[in-house]
Amino acid sequence: MRWDPLGGGEGRNRSPELPKSGNCQLERPQPERFAAEEARLEGARISTVNTAVQSAGVLSFEDAYEVVREHCGQILKAGDRPSEEVLLLQSAGRVLAEPVKADRDFPPFPRATRDGFAVRADDLARGVTLLRVVGQVRAGDTYDLPVASGEAVEIMTGAAVPAGADAVVMVEYTERKSQEVNHKGHEGTQREVSEDRGGIGDDDNVLDIASNKSPEPEEKRIEDLVEIQRTVVAGENIVPAGAEAQAGQELLPRGVRLGPAQIALAAAAGKASVKVYRKPKVAILSTGDELVEVAEKPGPSQIRNSNSYSLAALVKEFGGEPVQLPIAPDEQGKLTELIEQGLKADMLLLSGGVSMGKFDLVELALNTLGAKFFFTGALIQPGKPVVFGEVGAIPFFGLPGNPVSVMVTFELFARQVVEALSGSEPERVKSAKAKLKKEFKTKTGLTRFLPALIAGGLDDPEVDLVPWQGSGDMLAAAKANCYLVVPPDREKLAKGEMVTVVMR
Ligand code: AMP
Ligand code: MG
Repeated sequence: MRWDPLGGGEGRNRSPELPKSGNCQLERPQPERFAAEEARLEGARISTVNTAVQSAGVLSFEDAYEVVREHCGQILKAGDRPSEEVLLLQSAGRVLAEPVKADRDFPPFPRATRDGFAVRADDLARGVTLLRVVGQVRAGDTYDLPVASGEAVEIMTGAAVPAGADAVVMVEYTERKSQEVNHKGHEGTQREVSEDRGGIGDDDNVLDIASNKSPEPEEKRIEDLVEIQRTVVAGENIVPAGAEAQAGQELLPRGVRLGPAQIALAAAAGKASVKVYRKPKVAILSTGDELVEVAEKPGPSQIRNSNSYSLAALVKEFGGEPVQLPIAPDEQGKLTELIEQGLKADMLLLSGGVSMGKFDLVELALNTLGAKFFFTGALIQPGKPVVFGEVGAIPFFGLPGNPVSVMVTFELFARQVVEALSGSEPERVKSAKAKLKKEFKTKTGLTRFLPALIAGGLDDPEVDLVPWQGSGDMLAAAKANCYLVVPPDREKLAKGEMVTVVMR
């Protein structure tokens, strides 16, 4: 079989411009053995088709995307959602329900950003200079005496810069020296550094000890010195206390999703636990007579309900709590019953049953429950039959049943509503540019999101399509790390062209 990069399709062949309607479905040839069922359905369709479905229509990708974002804005504006206190590590991926404030200055002390020597920048103004090393300060220590002119304190990254010092010279630009000096006791006068050292001899740079004329017995001792080979400006390699945030300042606002960096910040502010929004419950309802549960043995023409799992995993990833409902058959009564059950959650995701097939009853069932439809299709591939709406205040998505379609439409659209319900502003799709590895041809009319692999270095990312058998090809989805975006007006994408990808 020849690989068709844009193969697949949704089994739906209505015109992109036309909103779907019940009448279209009824024009299909009907096999005899389903005649009774058809008659029942026909009655149901005619009586339940409502103008909301017909007028919602099929939108371009951009329009559908914006409709979803607008709805997310409304969800977020509605505000007040329940919260709970959780241990800090349990908060990963959750959304903050109250701001985290700085309990003290960040950093709490002037922090050395390099290993080296804390000095007074003025001491080094004349080039290579020899300073007396008067102490050492490690991270976690303090050096209490102020650093005087002519002195240096050895300092480690992360340590508090002692008072008096206003810069840190990197250890790479220094050389440790020692010299024997005559020392006449603490009251003696001593020029402690020989004249052949750079800078020594200038009044600013000499190391004087308070003088007293009374004679003392001479004693020798080794003096610890450092030669500084660079000048520095005041403030170099020091982050001043409070430069990142001052005590009481908001570090993390309400509504922020807690990733590793945010959790680190909360930890630094002493938050052993944080208040987060309760996860929204997202009901997942897979529809289809062909489906069996994962643990069951499928018959020859049956398949396992994998969509319920891809969706549950995605819901978890974006901050929701999945509630997997039993499989719904393609029968309106039972389907409606299960939809009603799903509408008890904060959001409902349906898989399958939104195409143009005779037994695609999801919209009909939703209609009978008074659904409002925001769109009933998007000009995308895979995933064209995607449906978005609400019953009362509960948003729902009818996602096409093909396993790649279900993931693409979740990632493009439904994801954002899960994020909004969990209390955070939904992220925009993460797109990037990459060089196309091989040319391919396509048809115009749909924005395509094709499973692809991006690889290469920082500056030369390359992207290639993952060969696939169409939107039912789960293996392709499992191999892909992004979707290659083909604009609806492009018939061919050339090798070497910079193309857009949406990261997964
Ligand atoms: P539908 O959108 O209902 O027409 O479904 C399209 C195709 O997707 C079906 O023929 C199945 O092959 C597949 N499919 C539907 N639902 C599921 C599911 N829950 N898990 C895996 N594959 C599914
Ligand atoms: Mg189906």
